[in-house]
Amino acid sequence: MFKRKHKRSTHIVLEDIVIQVTRKKVKNINLRVYPSKKEVRISAPHYLSEQVIRNFAISKLGWIRNKFSTYKAPVHPNDPEFITGETHFYKGKALELRISTRDASSKIILHEKQGILEMIARPGSSKAKRADILTEWYRARLKEQIPLLIEKWEPVMGVTVQEFGVKKMKTRWGSCNTKAKRIWLNLELVKKSAECLEYVVVHEMTHLLERLHNDHFYQLMSHFLPNWEETEKELQGKID
Ligand SMILES: [Zn+2]
Repeated sequence: MFKRKHKRSTHIVLEDIVIQVTRKKVKNINLRVYPSKKEVRISAPHYLSEQVIRNFAISKLGWIRNKFSTYKAPVHPNDPEFITGETHFYKGKALELRISTRDASSKIILHEKQGILEMIARPGSSKAKRADILTEWYRARLKEQIPLLIEKWEPVMGVTVQEFGVKKMKTRWGSCNTKAKRIWLNLELVKKSAECLEYVVVHEMTHLLERLHNDHFYQLMSHFLPNWEETEKELQGKID
């Protein structure tokens, strides 16, 4: 024997909206809107006529349209597609990505005044490939900027940084190996303002004078960068 489900589906079409109607063992007519999927579903008791359900749907049409029009698709800042029109950040500024497909070696051209980050990529390049092109450009920019900051601060602070590196870090903006006098900076800093980058570099360099986050450390920080607390708020994250 088949298990009989008292359920069958039909559709009501109202202008450009298609509503799926399912008959169920329910007492009341029920309407649900799924704006993300552009779907509308009605569940209704078996005894209600098609016309009653249709009239009900018509009475809700304005409400349905409102649900659809006010729905905002979620943005996925952590899951970009690397396509034209997308927003990407550099030095604290939002830039519009523009992909120019060309059978040439890939590169990024920053059109600062126009607020455009142009990516030259080969036709048909994958999302992963485009992500790599941007990551490498970001990494190169940070590797240009960081040594300038280290050179600026070394004589002021009286310390020497032996080595620095840039890497993707999940939980920290930077870290410092005080023994090796090596500092690591999070690649994401490239998207933040110049003040943020400088703050993290100075923070990590301060660890060469004071390993711990104690009063002495914060006294030093306030001496070097009196506004460091403001900048830290902008970063909203952990600094080691
Ligand atoms: Zn620290």
